Formats: sequence, structure tokens, C-alpha cells
Amino acid sequence: MLLVHVAALGSLRRELVQTIGRDATRRVLLRAGFAAGERDATLARQVRSEAGLFEMFAVGPQLHMLEGAVQVTPEHFEADPQRRHYFGVYRWDHSWEVATHVRDFGPQSEPVCWMLLGYASGYTSAFFGWPILYKEVACEACGAPCCRIEGRPQHAWPDGDALAADYAADSLIVRLEDLQQQVETLRSTLETGDELGELVGRSRTFTAAVDLLCKAAATQVTVLLTGETGVGKERFARALHAMSARADKPFVAVNCAALPGELIESELFGAERGAFTGASSSRPGRFERADSGTLMLDEIGDLPLLAQAKLLRVLQTGEVERLGATTPRKVDVRLVAATNVDLEAAVEAGRFRRDLFYRLNVYPIRIPPLRERTEDIVALAEHMLRKFEALHGKRVAGFTDRALDALQRHPWPGNVRELENLVERGVILTGVGQPVDVEQLFPRLDAVAPVVIGANGRLEQAACGDASWLFDEVKRRGLGLDALEDVLIQEAVNRAKGNLSAAARALGLSRPQLSYRLNRLRERAKA
Ligand SMILES: [Zn+2]
Repeated sequence: MLLVHVAALGSLRRELVQTIGRDATRRVLLRAGFAAGERDATLARQVRSEAGLFEMFAVGPQLHMLEGAVQVTPEHFEADPQRRHYFGVYRWDHSWEVATHVRDFGPQSEPVCWMLLGYASGYTSAFFGWPILYKEVACEACGAPCCRIEGRPQHAWPDGDALAADYAADSLIVRLEDLQQQVETLRSTLETGDELGELVGRSRTFTAAVDLLCKAAATQVTVLLTGETGVGKERFARALHAMSARADKPFVAVNCAALPGELIESELFGAERGAFTGASSSRPGRFERADSGTLMLDEIGDLPLLAQAKLLRVLQTGEVERLGATTPRKVDVRLVAATNVDLEAAVEAGRFRRDLFYRLNVYPIRIPPLRERTEDIVALAEHMLRKFEALHGKRVAGFTDRALDALQRHPWPGNVRELENLVERGVILTGVGQPVDVEQLFPRLDAVAPVVIGANGRLEQAACGDASWLFDEVKRRGLGLDALEDVLIQEAVNRAKGNLSAAARALGLSRPQLSYRLNRLRERAKA
């Protein structure tokens, strides 16, 4: 036992109310009281084990008075442990909680003897061995002459489940974790607002390309970005725009390969009403929409020859002419062209205009493929992890060493985009708070999901993949199906460090399904 001055408890209570709010404080104190009551019940059974039921029970209220919490006067006591019947009414005077609460917060409209109430519920429940809950039906803090509580078994209260919910392990930690997660999410969303935030890497080849980009940003020069598919050309173009004096003006990106040939000119240069079938109203092209900003033409090597001629004219005159229009419009656009094909070879083959190539190739920047900058992979992967954590509102515990090692060994034919896809997949497949491992990054049909636990609670072979290795392993160890299930459940619970929700997620079960299986497992262990 520890004697604590009421003033100390009172200031703790005040601080709790001010930091976590009245309702959370009420439940914290209810549970603290409940735990204290439970302990005193054990004591009561020991000290008066020969006494009658009421004398034995009265130890609780007496201890409560001795402890200086409140003065208790029993008004009614009915108990029939065989029939699980209980009804008790107690009068409370001089509750320490009333005194401290009213001093700090003034008169109340709702009862405030939370810890005392929790004590009564915990004591009586533990004394009889089934849930008995109290309500404070009158409280001095609300102007009543004294406090009064009534206790009944949980099932005898019409709102018993709601009362019991106050004693359930609290969501407060979960709520704090939720809030923490939201803060992290917002923080990482803000961080990506940085101009170079998306250009992650320190390797020599990569920083050389970024340096060129930074130098171009201060000028109006047309930039030609080259590099394999997926190296991040649009990221470079966006960064260039963000660093330039046009940053607060539009950035428009067009993928020339994605537009059908017959639409490409109207998309780029706009069309007047009736210029062609389907042009029911006049509309501006991408050049006009990017006016005073930056226009990125991606996969420019795929632009048809006719559109190439028009593009060249726009670059020479600074004017666009909508299809079907009679007068040109002035546009002020910073052009960034990008290609993953060798434009010089396309010129030699007659598929790309030589004069346009010279016009675009003033300031080429080659973005290196990921396999030429393996030292950047870890930093990139971690950057993307934070991004996808934010996007999916989920926190994981980084990568395992095994995963980082595998990422550095991969040849990356799809470059940064491939890495991005794998990391996103990893974030989605990894349990909350768990580290991303190789299995979540690299889909391997024979190892990722050969076995699932079906609706009937049995292991089933998944549609894809070969389960022979699993079968051999089960046979080698002489496990039955039930034992295998037990082993899997134990392993999941251990890995989740006892967090049943996480263990359930890892097994593809709901939390109640896992609890049901755990109970069955324990019964089997007993038998
Ligand atoms: Zn009260």
C-alpha cells in the first residue's frame, strides 16, 4: 500500500482532464479504481474467510474508508451467489473526488466519483467472481446532499454492455497511435513539397544530371531529357519547372505516344469549333494551357511527322494556330522534351525531322538508369517508403536487411518506376508496424501464397503456386493439419509480439477468427 496525498492525486486528475479530456480521464480512473477494488476483494476473502457473506463483503467498503477515499454507508445488500443475483445500494459522504473536482472545475452536471465507482465495481466483481457494475445515481458534485451508487450484475442493467465498455482495455493508446500516424502522414506530405524532394540520389552520374538541370532552371533554354523507360523523366521536368521563375504557372505534361495520331494535333495546338468531325466547341490545346508555364512533351520520338512540322513552326514563331483557325495566338511556353529512343538514329531512319532535332537538342540531359547508380537504391527506396506510407495512411518499420540487400542486387530493367511499384506493393502487403521483407517486395509465385487458411479453418492450397515443398516439410516433421495450424498461429502471435490484431492480419484472418482458433488451440493443448 502506498499513501498518496489527495492533493497529489487531485493534481494528477486535473492534468489528465486537461491533456486527454474528461471522458478519457473518466475511463482511466474507472479502470484504476477497478484494479484497486479487485485486489482488495482477494484480501477480503483472506481476512474473513470464516465470516458470513455480508461481513466478508463489508471489508471492501471498510478498506475504502480506511484508505480515506470516502465514507461508505450500506443502504441495501441482496446477494445470492448461486443464482448470480446481486443488488447493492451505498451512500457515500465526503468523496475525495467530489472535493478535488469541484475545487478545480466548479459544480458539475454529471457524477465525478470515477475512481470510487471503479473500485466498487472491481471489488464486487472480483468478490463474487462475475461482472457486477455500479452506477452513481446521485453525486454531491451535482448538488445532491450525498453521493449514492447502485450495483447490479452486468446483465441486469439494460445498458450493461455500454457500462462494461468503459472497463474494456482502452482505445486511448490506439487513438494516440492513430493520431501519431496522421501526423507522420501530414509531415511526409509536406516534405514532398520540396522542389528536389523527388530527385533522390548522391551517385556521381545522378548528381551530374541534377546539376545540369539546376543550371538550366534559371534560363529559358529548351531541355531534352533522355534515358530509359522509368528513369524519372517527368520528375526531372517537374523539378525544372519548380525551380524556374515559372514555378507558380501551369506545368502541363503530354505523352506523345499515348495520344492517337489523328488527335495529336488538336490536343497540342487546339481546335476551333467545326474544325473536324466531333469538334463541337472550340478548345485550347496543351500549348495554350501551358501558357507562361512549362510544357513537357514526353516520348517525343513518337510524334508523327506532320505534327513535328507544326511543332517546329510553334518553336520558331512562338505562336500556335488552332485547327480550323485563321489567326495564330501568341504563347509563352518553356518546352521540355523527353525521349527513351535514340533521336539521332530516328533522324537517320527518316522518322524524325533533322531541323526539329537540332532545335530540341540544345541542352540534352541524360538521366542514368538505376543499375548505373546502385548506391542510390537504399535512399530511393526509403524515400518511396515514406511516400507510400503517407499515401496509404499506414506505418511500417522500414526494410529488413535482407530486403535492402535484394533491392541492391536486382537489375532494375524498369528503373525507378519499377522500384516505386515494388515499394508500394511492399507497403501494402506488410503488416502495420512490421518491417518490409523480401517476400513483400518480390512476388514469387511458389513462395508468396502457396497456402491459405480457408473459411473452414483448414489450410488450402492457393490457386497458384506449388505447395510440394510445404507438404514435404509437414511430412518431415510429422505434423498433422491441426498441428500445422497451431504452429502457424503460434508463430504469427510470437512475431506480432502478442498483438493479436497484427497476428490476425498476417494470417489473413479477422481478429475474432483468430481468437476463436486460439481458444481451440488452447483446448487441444489441454486435451
Ligand atoms: Zn459523487
